[in-house]
Amino acid sequence: MFINGEWMNAQSGETRDIVNPYNQTVIATAAEGNEKDTRAAIQAARLAFDESSWSVLPANERGELVYQIGTLIRRDLQKLAELETWDTGKTVQESRDDMADIANVFLYFGGLADKDGGDVIQSPMPAAESKVVREPVGVCGQITPWNYPLLQAAWKIAPALAAGNTIVVKPSEITPLTTVKVFELIEEAGIPKGVANLVLGPGASTGAELSVNHDVDLISFTGGIETGKTIMRSASHNVKNIALELGGKNPNIVFADADFTTAVDQALNAVFFHAGQVCSAGARLLVEESIHDAFVEALVERTKRIKLGDGFDENTQSGPMISAEHRAKVEHYVEIGQKEGAVLAAGGQRPDDPELQHGFFYLPTIFTNCTSDMRIVQEEVFGPVLTVETFQSKEEAVKLANDTIYGLAGGVWTQDLDKAEFVAARLRMGTVWINDFHPYFAQAPWGGYKQSGIGRELGHEGIEEYTEVKHIYRNKQPEPIHWFQ
Ligand code: NAD
Repeated sequence: MFINGEWMNAQSGETRDIVNPYNQTVIATAAEGNEKDTRAAIQAARLAFDESSWSVLPANERGELVYQIGTLIRRDLQKLAELETWDTGKTVQESRDDMADIANVFLYFGGLADKDGGDVIQSPMPAAESKVVREPVGVCGQITPWNYPLLQAAWKIAPALAAGNTIVVKPSEITPLTTVKVFELIEEAGIPKGVANLVLGPGASTGAELSVNHDVDLISFTGGIETGKTIMRSASHNVKNIALELGGKNPNIVFADADFTTAVDQALNAVFFHAGQVCSAGARLLVEESIHDAFVEALVERTKRIKLGDGFDENTQSGPMISAEHRAKVEHYVEIGQKEGAVLAAGGQRPDDPELQHGFFYLPTIFTNCTSDMRIVQEEVFGPVLTVETFQSKEEAVKLANDTIYGLAGGVWTQDLDKAEFVAARLRMGTVWINDFHPYFAQAPWGGYKQSGIGRELGHEGIEEYTEVKHIYRNKQPEPIHWFQ
């Protein structure tokens, strides 16, 4: 852990083995902190915010430091990518792409640090001056998940530091390795001590302490919906600012007039990328009835050819699931789907390949004959499982797509732009892709409607999350008002 500029073990001396999901070998031993370590990190961040010059440093100087972290990530990109693949099982090509995106996030927010100079507004009061300025919120707790360990951390660390906050980061206890490495780069970049702190450990102790502690002013969380609700309740104790990036059950809508081959290809990518362990996975395919049979046939044929394997093998197209527990959860959902009457058209089991028996692999799975009332359609499986429903009109497509508690993202495929815009305007989701699925980048906001979350990361909204807005009003000609005689 990295607390107040020092590398340290847990005060209790506890450790945790970090396991490679491809073959279950132990690849590292991490400190296993608890509430006590978390309180020490919060204390360091509090002092650095209240008593050091960090939060009032000229914004361009803070920006340069954040930018420098991005440069160092670029320098170490290959090493970081390999570490991410060891830790998550994802293909090394995916990890390299993640690292390039992560470096860009630091470069983007480093550049954005000094771009908001505040506003002087026309005051309705005579002889007065009004300024509206943004200031850092204070101490920020940042809790991240295991599917995109460093990417999700970068979306939080870069804007928080650029805005002048101090931070305590808690990565998922099962995938901490790249976040630890980036803290080495944060140290190398010269971020002052106490400004950026890292605690490792389980959510129930370290994460819970961050959520409940009164010295934390903002909690930013990416993870599951139930954990998000718990954090929200804990945050209410001192009315913390909250930012939540939760799950999704994202529709991918394909109209009959879409480019067939492209839509099939991208539907596979939408759901099976990173073994479906993506918050924005296109796990609900809504396909126009007239092309359903041909579309499913093509999809099943392509799905059966997906090559599972070692993330370091350049031929591998998809790695394992993250853990035995998570695979068991996916298997449970497949059982539920079958009991509900959905028809298994592909997958539905672990692979037979003897080489994959030590990893947490599961075959890409497709359910047809699905209806909106099924749990397999409504609940986030967070694995390689696709459900297929049909629709007959654009109105019905929108209705089915929005029939969910989630509202993270959705895609629509058609060559009719008016139809695409009709659908895009009506989807209650934070991101809508037209004739594409999955693109995101530092310049555009990311976040969910409905129970997919609160707030936005990335874009200028992503740095605004980490600011408080202050109105400074100055009366230029003060005089008595004689309200009280
Ligand atoms: P999770 O909720 O189990 O854990 C996420 C983090 O919260 C971990 O660091 C964990 O230790 C911590 N945590 C657990 N219990 C806690 C508690 N009581 N108090 C405080 N912290 C606690 O989620 P996960 O399984 O790691 O990640 C998968 C979930 O993340 C999926 O639901 C996925 O959709 C979501 N996700 C969302 C986005 C997005 O941008 N919206 C991105 C990635 C992942």
